[in-house]
Amino acid sequence: MAASPRYKRLLEKIKKKARSQRHGIRQLFNRFKEDKPKGLDKAFRKANDEAFAHINCLECANCCRIAQPVFEMPDIKRIARHFEMTPEGFIKKYLKADPEYEYFTKKLPCTFLGNDNKCTIYEIRPMGCRTYPPAKLRLSPEQLDVIHDNAGICPAVNEIIDKIRLQF
Ligand code: SF4
Ligand code: SF4
Repeated sequence: MAASPRYKRLLEKIKKKARSQRHGIRQLFNRFKEDKPKGLDKAFRKANDEAFAHINCLECANCCRIAQPVFEMPDIKRIARHFEMTPEGFIKKYLKADPEYEYFTKKLPCTFLGNDNKCTIYEIRPMGCRTYPPAKLRLSPEQLDVIHDNAGICPAVNEIIDKIRLQF
Protein backbone atom coordinates (compact mmCIF):
# COMPACT_ATOMS: atom_id res chain seq x y z
CA MET A 1 0.00 0.00 0.00
CA ALA A 2 1.23 3.49 -0.76
CA ALA A 3 1.50 6.17 1.89
CA SER A 4 -1.79 7.84 2.81
CA PRO A 5 -2.52 11.10 0.92
CA ARG A 6 -1.60 13.08 4.05
CA TYR A 7 1.74 11.26 4.36
CA LYS A 8 2.40 11.53 0.62
CA ARG A 9 2.25 15.30 0.99
CA LEU A 10 4.39 15.17 4.11
CA LEU A 11 7.00 12.96 2.41
CA GLU A 12 7.19 15.32 -0.57
CA LYS A 13 7.64 18.25 1.81
CA ILE A 14 10.44 16.69 3.88
CA LYS A 15 12.25 15.55 0.72
CA LYS A 16 12.42 19.13 -0.56
CA LYS A 17 13.22 20.52 2.88
CA ALA A 18 16.08 18.05 3.47
CA ARG A 19 17.51 18.91 0.04
CA SER A 20 17.49 22.62 0.77
CA GLN A 21 18.96 22.16 4.29
CA ARG A 22 21.52 19.48 3.50
CA HIS A 23 24.64 21.66 3.83
CA GLY A 24 23.56 23.08 7.18
CA ILE A 25 22.65 19.63 8.52
CA ARG A 26 25.94 18.17 7.28
CA GLN A 27 27.93 20.92 9.02
CA LEU A 28 26.02 20.40 12.26
CA PHE A 29 26.49 16.63 12.17
CA ASN A 30 30.20 17.00 11.36
CA ARG A 31 30.51 19.16 14.45
CA PHE A 32 28.78 16.41 16.51
CA LYS A 33 31.16 13.81 15.07
CA GLU A 34 34.26 15.87 15.89
CA ASP A 35 33.22 16.85 19.39
CA LYS A 36 30.00 15.29 20.65
CA PRO A 37 28.18 17.83 22.84
CA LYS A 38 27.11 16.84 26.35
CA GLY A 39 23.46 15.81 26.43
CA LEU A 40 23.22 15.03 22.71
CA ASP A 41 22.07 11.40 23.12
CA LYS A 42 19.42 12.46 25.64
CA ALA A 43 18.17 15.25 23.37
CA PHE A 44 17.91 12.82 20.42
CA ARG A 45 16.02 10.29 22.56
CA LYS A 46 13.56 12.92 23.74
CA ALA A 47 12.99 14.27 20.22
CA ASN A 48 12.56 10.67 18.97
CA ASP A 49 9.88 9.92 21.58
CA GLU A 50 8.06 13.17 20.84
CA ALA A 51 8.07 12.49 17.09
CA PHE A 52 6.83 8.91 17.34
CA ALA A 53 4.12 9.93 19.81
CA HIS A 54 2.20 11.43 16.87
CA ILE A 55 3.71 9.92 13.70
CA ASN A 56 1.89 6.91 12.28
CA CYS A 57 4.31 4.55 10.55
CA LEU A 58 1.42 2.55 9.07
CA GLU A 59 0.35 5.61 7.04
CA CYS A 60 3.93 6.03 5.85
CA ALA A 61 6.15 2.93 5.41
CA ASN A 62 8.53 5.08 3.39
CA CYS A 63 11.65 3.51 4.93
CA CYS A 64 10.45 0.03 3.89
CA ARG A 65 9.71 1.32 0.40
CA ILE A 66 12.83 3.29 -0.44
CA ALA A 67 15.63 2.66 2.10
CA GLN A 68 17.43 -0.61 1.47
CA PRO A 69 17.10 -2.79 4.61
CA VAL A 70 20.33 -4.43 5.79
CA PHE A 71 20.32 -8.16 6.57
CA GLU A 72 23.23 -9.50 8.59
CA MET A 73 23.98 -13.19 9.14
CA PRO A 74 22.14 -13.51 12.50
CA ASP A 75 19.07 -11.89 10.85
CA ILE A 76 19.32 -14.24 7.88
CA LYS A 77 19.60 -17.37 10.05
CA ARG A 78 16.62 -16.33 12.18
CA ILE A 79 14.37 -15.37 9.27
CA ALA A 80 15.37 -18.34 7.09
CA ARG A 81 14.50 -20.68 9.99
CA HIS A 82 11.05 -19.06 10.16
CA PHE A 83 10.50 -19.86 6.46
CA GLU A 84 11.99 -23.35 6.89
CA MET A 85 14.75 -22.43 4.46
CA THR A 86 18.51 -22.72 4.66
CA PRO A 87 20.37 -19.39 5.03
CA GLU A 88 21.92 -20.03 1.59
CA GLY A 89 18.52 -20.63 0.01
CA PHE A 90 17.11 -17.51 1.67
CA ILE A 91 20.02 -15.39 0.43
CA LYS A 92 19.65 -16.74 -3.10
CA LYS A 93 15.93 -16.05 -3.21
CA TYR A 94 15.69 -12.66 -1.52
CA LEU A 95 19.04 -10.94 -1.03
CA LYS A 96 22.04 -9.45 -2.79
CA ALA A 97 25.50 -9.08 -1.28
CA ASP A 98 26.94 -5.65 -0.51
CA PRO A 99 30.63 -4.99 0.17
CA GLU A 100 29.86 -2.64 3.06
CA TYR A 101 26.67 -4.01 4.63
CA GLU A 102 26.58 -7.84 4.26
CA TYR A 103 23.22 -8.13 2.39
CA PHE A 104 20.35 -6.01 1.08
CA THR A 105 16.98 -7.14 -0.25
CA LYS A 106 17.03 -7.66 -4.01
CA LYS A 107 13.86 -5.63 -4.39
CA LEU A 108 12.44 -2.33 -3.26
CA PRO A 109 9.92 -1.86 -1.73
CA CYS A 110 11.16 -4.49 0.68
CA THR A 111 9.91 -7.98 -0.19
CA PHE A 112 8.52 -8.34 3.33
CA LEU A 113 6.36 -5.23 3.33
CA GLY A 114 2.68 -6.21 3.38
CA ASN A 115 -0.16 -4.55 1.45
CA ASP A 116 -1.37 -3.01 4.69
CA ASN A 117 2.04 -1.30 5.23
CA LYS A 118 2.83 -3.77 8.03
CA CYS A 119 6.06 -5.75 8.09
CA THR A 120 5.11 -9.40 7.46
CA ILE A 121 8.11 -10.55 9.53
CA TYR A 122 7.77 -7.89 12.22
CA GLU A 123 8.60 -10.12 15.21
CA ILE A 124 11.76 -11.42 13.57
CA ARG A 125 12.69 -8.41 11.40
CA PRO A 126 16.37 -7.53 10.92
CA MET A 127 18.17 -5.66 13.67
CA GLY A 128 18.68 -2.65 11.37
CA CYS A 129 14.89 -2.36 10.95
CA ARG A 130 14.37 -2.84 14.67
CA THR A 131 16.65 0.08 15.52
CA TYR A 132 15.55 2.40 12.67
CA PRO A 133 15.84 5.32 12.97
CA PRO A 134 18.75 4.99 15.43
CA ALA A 135 17.95 8.24 17.26
CA LYS A 136 17.33 6.38 20.54
CA LEU A 137 20.73 4.71 20.63
CA ARG A 138 24.00 5.98 22.03
CA LEU A 139 24.97 7.85 18.88
CA SER A 140 28.14 6.87 17.05
CA PRO A 141 29.45 8.70 13.95
CA GLU A 142 27.94 5.92 11.79
CA GLN A 143 24.53 6.32 13.39
CA LEU A 144 24.72 10.09 12.96
CA ASP A 145 25.36 9.42 9.26
CA VAL A 146 22.26 7.19 9.06
CA ILE A 147 20.15 9.89 10.72
CA HIS A 148 21.60 12.55 8.42
CA ASP A 149 20.95 10.45 5.30
CA ASN A 150 17.33 9.82 6.31
CA ALA A 151 16.30 13.45 6.82
CA GLY A 152 14.47 13.41 3.48
CA ILE A 153 13.04 9.89 3.88
CA CYS A 154 11.58 9.66 7.37
CA PRO A 155 9.20 12.31 8.74
CA ALA A 156 10.24 11.42 12.29
CA VAL A 157 13.94 11.91 11.52
CA ASN A 158 13.16 15.22 9.84
CA GLU A 159 11.32 16.43 12.91
CA ILE A 160 14.03 15.16 15.27
CA ILE A 161 16.69 17.09 13.33
CA ASP A 162 14.60 20.27 13.49
CA LYS A 163 14.46 19.98 17.27
CA ILE A 164 18.17 19.19 17.61
CA ARG A 165 19.11 22.17 15.40
CA LEU A 166 17.32 24.49 17.80
CA GLN A 167 19.21 23.14 20.80
CA PHE A 168 22.81 22.68 19.61
S1 SF4 B 1 10.17 4.96 10.64
FE1 SF4 B 1 9.95 6.91 9.53
S2 SF4 B 1 10.03 6.41 7.33
FE2 SF4 B 1 9.66 4.51 8.48
S3 SF4 B 1 7.45 4.29 8.46
FE3 SF4 B 1 7.96 5.33 10.38
S4 SF4 B 1 7.83 7.52 9.92
FE4 SF4 B 1 7.88 6.43 7.95
S1 SF4 C 1 12.00 -6.31 6.88
FE1 SF4 C 1 10.07 -5.39 7.53
S2 SF4 C 1 10.66 -3.56 8.69
FE2 SF4 C 1 12.44 -4.19 7.48
S3 SF4 C 1 12.31 -3.01 5.57
FE3 SF4 C 1 11.31 -4.99 5.22
S4 SF4 C 1 9.13 -4.60 5.64
FE4 SF4 C 1 10.30 -2.92 6.56
